[in-house]
Amino acid sequence: MARADLVIRSRRVVTQQGIAPAALAISGGVITAIRDYDAAPDALRHLDAGDAVLLPGVVDTHVHVNEPGRTEWEGFETVTRAAAAGGVTTIVDMPLNSLPVTTTVAALELKARAAAGRAAVDYGFWGGVVPGNGAELAPLARAGALGFKCFLVPSGIDEFPAVGEGDLRSAMTRIAALELPLLVHAELPGPIARAAPVPGSDPRRYAGYLASRPPAAELEAVDLVLRLCRETGCRVHIVHVSAASTLERLRAARRAGLPVTAETCPHYLTFASEEILDGATAWKCAPPIREREVRERLWQGLADGALDLVASDHSPAPPALKCLETGDFVRAWGGVASLELALSATWTGARARGHDLRDIARWLAERPARLAGLAAKGRLAPGGDADVVVFDPDAQFTADPARLRQRHPITPYAGMTLAGVVRRTFVRGTCVYEEGERGTQGIGRRVR
Ligand SMILES: [Zn+2]
Repeated sequence: MARADLVIRSRRVVTQQGIAPAALAISGGVITAIRDYDAAPDALRHLDAGDAVLLPGVVDTHVHVNEPGRTEWEGFETVTRAAAAGGVTTIVDMPLNSLPVTTTVAALELKARAAAGRAAVDYGFWGGVVPGNGAELAPLARAGALGFKCFLVPSGIDEFPAVGEGDLRSAMTRIAALELPLLVHAELPGPIARAAPVPGSDPRRYAGYLASRPPAAELEAVDLVLRLCRETGCRVHIVHVSAASTLERLRAARRAGLPVTAETCPHYLTFASEEILDGATAWKCAPPIREREVRERLWQGLADGALDLVASDHSPAPPALKCLETGDFVRAWGGVASLELALSATWTGARARGHDLRDIARWLAERPARLAGLAAKGRLAPGGDADVVVFDPDAQFTADPARLRQRHPITPYAGMTLAGVVRRTFVRGTCVYEEGERGTQGIGRRVR
């Protein structure tokens, strides 16, 4: 065997076969072989991670980068630096909240230009479905969009309006022909309108915000999407599932053989509405974080396959828009920024419930890569990209917003003790993060 560029070995390497000692041989950015720990091939450089675990790099399919146009919220440099520090080696950017939104080929090209040469990790793009852009979907797919995203309720920004049933049906027919997935923000306006708070109620109360976006909004949206999935054959992916009632529908859809997948997010798996203080708008997201009992049902959904994967839904905004001072849940921007903490937060909750690192690899790497059609990503296997995280699952740290690499130091995880420390992150064999170091910027490439 020719001399490898790099060998990384550890007593605990997480592959699809299990967790075992092994040595990864890496050349040209690709894993060329996986050998026994004691039979590492000859290489220019060697890294022995010892008892630290080698995990496949996290693939986060739900990231709002916001550049171009809202780079003061978050941009490619900051977000990918946060990604690298959090063990995330590929992000897929949502078609909003950048300006322009990614609903045309011209906008996709602007995005690609904004990211080029500035990302620390690999990145791809979802396109957007909005009323009237049906003719753009095939060109967007040809230009490299990995799939599409739509909203069924107002998205929070005017440039990305929601679609109704008619637009949705025609978009799903087109997307089915393109053999790409449609990602759906599953909340319908009807149940939200019926739950509107009485005028004069205190906008600082979390219970008020929670009641304003009831589980029925998610359930009715999922029912609509599943009906159109059956009708059109379009692959659908439900983003950020928050409600327990949704899980039964997803299980039934799977039993019926529908091409449906679903995700939840670290914040729904970590927090519970009973613990969120009034005025604590860092916790505001849509759909909202629900009760403790729902959180446990979401974990059950991951365990039994009703939910396929975990994605961060990293959606930052400047402090003023989060209304931190007034604590106004009605006016605050809905979004939690957690890209850098997603792996550790999910591991913290998973470990406490008896899951292991193979589950983490499946939920955070393998299945998101499959959703986005990234065959070279998401697992440690010969022929795959050498996207590797050196992870110490037994170490702990306290989440400190000031040390996060995202643009704004706002996070509901502030002060929490989390398990699992990222020691190093490799993207295609290049170290893009080493604990305590600034890391390498600019080697990230677009995936398509
Ligand atoms: Zn989102």
